[in-house]
Amino acid sequence: MKKSRIVLVFVLFVLIFSTVPQEVTAQTPPTCGYDSNVESILAEVTQEDVVQWIRNFSGEDFVPIGVSQKKILTRFSTQLFNLNVNALAYPYLGEQLRSFGFEEGTYLTDHAYTPNYVPTGTENMIDLHNVGEDYVSSDRNTKVVGNPDQTTTWKNKVVTIPGHGPNADEIVLMTAHMDSTSPQRNTNAPGAEDNASGVAALMEAARLFRFYKFDRTIKIIFFTGEEQGLWGSEAYVEDHPAEMDNIIGVVNLDMFGYDNDQDMCIELHVGTMPDSNQVGTCFTEVNTNYNLGLAYDYVTNGAIGASDHASFWDAGVGAIEVLENFQAHDESFGCNGTQDRNPHYHQITDTIDKMYMPATLATVKAGVGSVASLALPMGKCFATDPQITATPQTESIIVNWAEIEGADVYNVYRSTTSCAGSFTQVAQVSTNSYKDVDIDLENDYFYKVQAAETGAVCYSQMSNCAVARVEVPIFFDIFIPLVIAGE
Ligand SMILES: [Zn+2]
Repeated sequence: MKKSRIVLVFVLFVLIFSTVPQEVTAQTPPTCGYDSNVESILAEVTQEDVVQWIRNFSGEDFVPIGVSQKKILTRFSTQLFNLNVNALAYPYLGEQLRSFGFEEGTYLTDHAYTPNYVPTGTENMIDLHNVGEDYVSSDRNTKVVGNPDQTTTWKNKVVTIPGHGPNADEIVLMTAHMDSTSPQRNTNAPGAEDNASGVAALMEAARLFRFYKFDRTIKIIFFTGEEQGLWGSEAYVEDHPAEMDNIIGVVNLDMFGYDNDQDMCIELHVGTMPDSNQVGTCFTEVNTNYNLGLAYDYVTNGAIGASDHASFWDAGVGAIEVLENFQAHDESFGCNGTQDRNPHYHQITDTIDKMYMPATLATVKAGVGSVASLALPMGKCFATDPQITATPQTESIIVNWAEIEGADVYNVYRSTTSCAGSFTQVAQVSTNSYKDVDIDLENDYFYKVQAAETGAVCYSQMSNCAVARVEVPIFFDIFIPLVIAGE
């Protein structure tokens, strides 16, 4: 009797509450359902690109920096900013981002901070900020604290992609530390997994997001000083208190792609804040919706704080850390209780050959897809891309194309070597043609054109390549001797 009454009450309770609408919160929780824009973005993230970014940032290949070709042999923060010619990762990063069309001073900015501490004592490390060496005690439970040394400036690199929608004041952050360390950190710290992997993910996001419109604003931040104890991210949080209230979530990517047992299993360090759980949930939904094939330990209690996401946790901002299978967790999680830690972590042997590319690529895609989804994609910037022709005139070349709907300006690029050569921007025009008078006769000129919005980061894909050359006019051969003869 009593039992059935309880059941009846329970049924009524369920009936009533299932029809009551859910409480509407001020900030809509992000849902990362399937979106065709995200699918198109992820289709452009290729293993070839990811491998090349990691090779470039970890000193495998020469990279163009200014007028020279250099290898980036270390990214230890002191070397990044002391003009070490083997540590030019910061200027290389800036040049690459500018080549994507991120205008310096507007959409590409430096966040400068003073890093060097004059020690005044030690403090307990509540967040396991224990990745540094100089500034962390041997017991790894305390770190050295002190006053900033005003004689040095370090920088974080910030890419801003303003939102196009009604929620443009809300911000999604994608972060990774670009610095590295090793026992020979001033000369040789490749840091391929830690953390050229995260840098590669951010470069792919920067490369691809510029072709799309998002409702929310996206910030892509390359932190430095992480290995000393999250200095770059701590300074960023401290210097942007108002921004913290507008951040929807932070996807921090630090150290992934090592997967010795090839089980495609990673760790998501989510922690216990509801806002972080929304970001973590989004990541798992993206993994499912785009068939990325990752397994994962979803770590809430006991999540580690030893990366830049912890600086945001300290400010109450939802954030997750995406990591290799660094620790053994409960067997019921995705990695089945296993630990698959990179033994080359913080060594001179942290090179790309130790990594497993299918896991690296899938994790990059999941990170890029999560940020794109959280930012609420609205579509491509332009429905079509320019199609151009180049026509030689007497002493000039005319480049023509059909107008692209929604374009404010067109950027004209030229190469003097080939369609596959290096192009430099020669003009920005608001009409649908360009007259190139800066030419030598009998030379081939190659052109490409890109449509753009002004006051935004929004580009079409590059047009086809068109080539033209102006021949020496035949009458010159006759006319010039005649003039000379007449004199
Ligand atoms: Zn790291």
